[in-house]
Amino acid sequence: MAKPMRPDDPAYWMLFDGVTTTPVVYNKDCYICNDPEYAQMGLPLCRKCPKCGGHIPADDSICDDCGYDEYDDYPDNTQNHTQEV
Ligand SMILES: [Zn+2]
Ligand SMILES: [Zn+2]
Repeated sequence: MAKPMRPDDPAYWMLFDGVTTTPVVYNKDCYICNDPEYAQMGLPLCRKCPKCGGHIPADDSICDDCGYDEYDDYPDNTQNHTQEV
């Protein structure tokens, strides 16, 4: 019987705190996707790319499938389109 985590593991309680995250994407090469304990602990999981529906790793902002960078779309405060009056 494989025991995924031992009771004396410092994070063991997190498996039972009722918080789980639901994976929305899966990449077989991604260590986060392949470790169910990330979801069981309620940690942030990989995201779905808004552009291609692909895989954006939880610890990154760039889509594995199309190279889209989430941060490129963040609204910066460039409200410098002051119209000349
Ligand atoms: Zn992943
Ligand atoms: Zn993408």
